[in-house]
Amino acid sequence: MKYVKTIGLEIHMRIKSETKMFCSCKNAVALAPEANINVCPICMWFPGMLPALNAEVVRLGLIGGMMMNCEVNKYSRFDRKTYFYPDSPNSYQITQLYDPIVWLGSVKTLVNGETREFRIHHMHLENDAWKLIHTWGKTLCDFNRAWSPLMEIVTDPVFHDKEEVMEFLRELQKIMRAAGVSDADMEKGQMRCDVNLSIAPEWAKEWWMRTETKNVNSFSAIWRVIDHEYKRQLKIIESGGEIDQETRGWDDEKWTSTSQRSKEDAMDYRYFPEPDLLPINLTDEFISEARACLVELPIDRRLRYLNEYKLWDDDARILTADKALSDYFEGLVSLTKDPKRSCSYITTILLAIIKESEEINSVSELKFDMKQLARVIELVNWDELSSTNSKQVIEELFNNGGDADLIVDENNLRQKNDTWALEAIVDEVIANFPNQVEDYKGWNENIFGFFVWQSMKASKWQGNPKIFNELLKKKLG
Ligand SMILES: [Zn+2]
Repeated sequence: MKYVKTIGLEIHMRIKSETKMFCSCKNAVALAPEANINVCPICMWFPGMLPALNAEVVRLGLIGGMMMNCEVNKYSRFDRKTYFYPDSPNSYQITQLYDPIVWLGSVKTLVNGETREFRIHHMHLENDAWKLIHTWGKTLCDFNRAWSPLMEIVTDPVFHDKEEVMEFLRELQKIMRAAGVSDADMEKGQMRCDVNLSIAPEWAKEWWMRTETKNVNSFSAIWRVIDHEYKRQLKIIESGGEIDQETRGWDDEKWTSTSQRSKEDAMDYRYFPEPDLLPINLTDEFISEARACLVELPIDRRLRYLNEYKLWDDDARILTADKALSDYFEGLVSLTKDPKRSCSYITTILLAIIKESEEINSVSELKFDMKQLARVIELVNWDELSSTNSKQVIEELFNNGGDADLIVDENNLRQKNDTWALEAIVDEVIANFPNQVEDYKGWNENIFGFFVWQSMKASKWQGNPKIFNELLKKKLG
């Protein structure tokens, strides 16, 4: 019998606000250099402390929700989720169970070249716990992360294979980065994923019992979890067993998961409205200010590059991976009116130089004006600069800035296209090498390159090789 798997995801993303969710401590988006430096009595849950909601967190959350095409709930509120775990000294988390800030959205992406849309059930705001560090046989506590704001994005159970999940997560990462809502770096713990999976025979209308595998922290681990959980459930079903609804923990060193908790529901957490915080009533003004911060979706840019600019799929993917890069590319195209060449200069030359540089990590840090790169492309298009030499000019611009035309002239790189002058050189070369001319005409056509090389040399490498080729062909017959 053939079984189909159905997957739903819960993604936690750290919101990139300046300060934490309920106090004015710095929100260390990346790892702080030292433990317990971004802390205060509020985020350490000292007795009597009261949280105060950070409006920036609400604004960024709202932008994130709108970027996923969600409906905005003008009224939302926080609920207290009670549970004991050593990473939460107050024994509760402040979250939004009943009235999340946004819901009913969708994320569009390309899966194997096809446009697909995946439904978002809702997104709510909640606080992160502190961090436990297990070392020297002891457990240490770091509060830097305590009350850092998170978005929890919950999808409908809409995925049926790994590729769909991966493309969706990559798209989500791009969306939140483009909108400046989250850096969504999995390695830095800014994005974590819970994987809900169930299997059912192809003919079944409803899927069977699902399991939830918690806190999967890398794309490759998500891939492994889906594989592992599908096969584990299949084995149980095929040997006549039943799947327990349970929470499982993934061990990425052992590539296996273990049962952590059996069936749980909202009752177990004794949710109730958070008494220390007022509900959120969004004004029309606040919503329209957030709406004004929306940016073009990375997928729309990608489709535009494919359909209008006719770029290759890989190039379109690279150029839309990061908003600064797509902005740079589009700026360059507006100057050169040549999307293909602009793309190849960015992807094959500029990004390679940036990758090797220790100082510059992104196109937004470049020392030279974009107009200079556009000028280099123009010189190549006009045959005034060979594409081989153009790389040298870009390297010089990259290292020391300056003016493309000046660099070309100072280094004698300008190609000579004056056919009269080049013809005189060709005549001289032919006159200087009568034996080779005889060989060429008699039996050795392979010697043609020799004449081109001699002509280039005689022109001090400034003649246009295309013109030399044409002239030599004409004269040698
Ligand atoms: Zn604090």
